[in-house]
Amino acid sequence: HGFVEFTDVEKSYDGRTFAVTRMNLNVARGEFLTLLGPSGSGKTTTLNMLAGFERPTHGTITLEGQPVDRLPPYQRNIGMVFQNYALFPHMTVEENVAFPLSVRQVSKADIAARVARALDMVRLQQFGDRRPTQLSGGQQQRVALARALVFQPSLVLMDEPLGALDKKLREHMQLEIKQLHTMLGVTIVYVTHDQSEALTMSDRVAVFNQGAIAQLGSPDDLYNTP
Ligand code: ADP
Ligand code: ADP
Repeated sequence: HGFVEFTDVEKSYDGRTFAVTRMNLNVARGEFLTLLGPSGSGKTTTLNMLAGFERPTHGTITLEGQPVDRLPPYQRNIGMVFQNYALFPHMTVEENVAFPLSVRQVSKADIAARVARALDMVRLQQFGDRRPTQLSGGQQQRVALARALVFQPSLVLMDEPLGALDKKLREHMQLEIKQLHTMLGVTIVYVTHDQSEALTMSDRVAVFNQGAIAQLGSPDDLYNTP
């Protein structure tokens, strides 16, 4: 079996129209796959089904051969990063990053060491005691990245993670995310409507149109398609 497999997946929220239709898709371990397409084309629905937040109306989605919704959400080995960061405002940076470990039965000593390493990875080692509101947008998104990576998930899902940042910072963060992907060898499924971002970052791009994948290929394949 593939690392991630979508088999004949469909999703309808209203029983009449389809947010996602007849989707068949394999993602290889270690791959950086981007879902690219206009608003309303089904990218977030696809990501949410892969996260196990939404159930397909039809078809199956497996991660390492197991249905993704077999485990309760917090036990899934999937890290998530959202556009709005979704940090806990009442917690410090360290507490935010520690959260996924605290719900996974990791010892206190282990938590401290892993949180320190994850903050180091995103170069926020000096900011552990701050609250999210005391950080810039880019720093907040790096906290969210550290929190998504701290439990060493095999799969990380990112939904427009750089959408709230200005252009210069976005380009900088694209590089940081690529470096983390390469260093950790983690599989990333990344959603964006920004074509240049998709072409810069991805091993493969799935181009969405009206709930279906219209094209799938490497940036070179897509760029050279007439
Ligand atoms: P994208 O992420 O590409 O913008 P979405 O997956 O969010 O696309 O949306 C695909 C379609 O599904 C749209 O027509 C949208 O209105 C619809 N949709 C998404 N989420 C819901 C929901 N929770 N309830 C009803 N319809 C939804
Ligand atoms: P190696 O496995 O050769 O030590 P890696 O590139 O996998 O090298 O990791 C480099 C460092 O980052 C190691 O100390 C590793 O334990 C740590 N590390 C790897 N993955 C994660 C992760 N998801 N979150 C936090 N630290 C990690």
